[in-house]
Amino acid sequence: MAFSPTRVIRSHIEPESAYHRSEPDTGDHLPVRLDWNESPYGLSPKAQKAYDEFRSGNIYPAIDQAPLRQALAEYLGVSDERIIVGAGLDDVINTLAMTIVDPGTEVIISEPTFGVYRSLFELHGAQVTDIPLGGAPDHALPTQGIIDRVSTNTRLIIICNPNNPTGTLFPREEIVRIIESVDCLVAIDEAYAEFSGVSHTDLAERYENVITLRTMSKFAGLAGFRVGYGVFPGALMPWFRRAAPAFFNVSAVSAAVAIASLQDLDHLRANAERTVAERNRLSAKLAAIDGVTVYPSATNFVLVAMPGDDGSRYVDALAAEGLLVRGYREPGLRHCIRISIGLPEHHDRLIEVLRREVANVLSGAVRA
Ligand code: PMP
Repeated sequence: MAFSPTRVIRSHIEPESAYHRSEPDTGDHLPVRLDWNESPYGLSPKAQKAYDEFRSGNIYPAIDQAPLRQALAEYLGVSDERIIVGAGLDDVINTLAMTIVDPGTEVIISEPTFGVYRSLFELHGAQVTDIPLGGAPDHALPTQGIIDRVSTNTRLIIICNPNNPTGTLFPREEIVRIIESVDCLVAIDEAYAEFSGVSHTDLAERYENVITLRTMSKFAGLAGFRVGYGVFPGALMPWFRRAAPAFFNVSAVSAAVAIASLQDLDHLRANAERTVAERNRLSAKLAAIDGVTVYPSATNFVLVAMPGDDGSRYVDALAAEGLLVRGYREPGLRHCIRISIGLPEHHDRLIEVLRREVANVLSGAVRA
């Protein structure tokens, strides 16, 4: 009998187009990745040592990932009983979705924001509602709009703070106002907290409905190891732990490297400071180019509005020089590019290319 994929696929899932994953053409250049908000630095010395000395890949990770959860709890100053870890923060968000989404459950987000929220919660059958951020340059959190939207069907509000891709750090009072005004969960995604110098994990201690989400991918430079975590409400932990997979999907080697990284915090903090200093230098250089607007960022990337109405010309011109940055197809962001903070020498090349392209566009030699 003929087999049809749609006979077995969950009815609400749309197939992804292959186009999504295609890599830009960098010709003969070795690509420099300034498009995924990774750290440009290698492992910290202690993490590298743990990696080099790792020998026990034949045995399962520690039961419950207890040592990793303890190390993270100590880092944040919270109880390890409330920590869930996962193969990157994406995986922790997946555990959250598995635990709280019934068909049609509403999840509120404020776009433009991290694309995984919509795609993952919709995959689980949630109705994802966008209460959009305010316009540029402030990209303000729509606090009252979010509060007004919450109904008995709303189970979760996600606030990405600082926000990806705008880089915006929202005022703490606004976040607290939302938390205090609703009876659903409020998840604060702090993937970039270490670059902002601001953390709201204390809110997860103070309020029963707050989750804070964190990752070792950014400031700790462990994106390839996939280690994310979250602080969850104590009363809900039995359910979250029921949904979390065995060993929380964190490999033994990733756990060992993450624990060692947390013993090297001075090193990691110095890297984060270097990143912030370089972000400020790059932002100033970009802002000095005619027609370019750099939005304030509290993260390890900057969102930049370019002259013309299509940023893809700049993405392509940079890719041709081996420099990968992120472009957008969403209407409000089509003229923008997002640049991850890498090394100064990469940024110097990037500035040169952008100066040249902007001059072409502004002189009318090409249409952007
Ligand atoms: N949240 C935000 C806001 C992010 O930008 C990212 C990664 N780009 C993640 C979560 C996921 O991080 P990871 O899965 O690497 O831990």
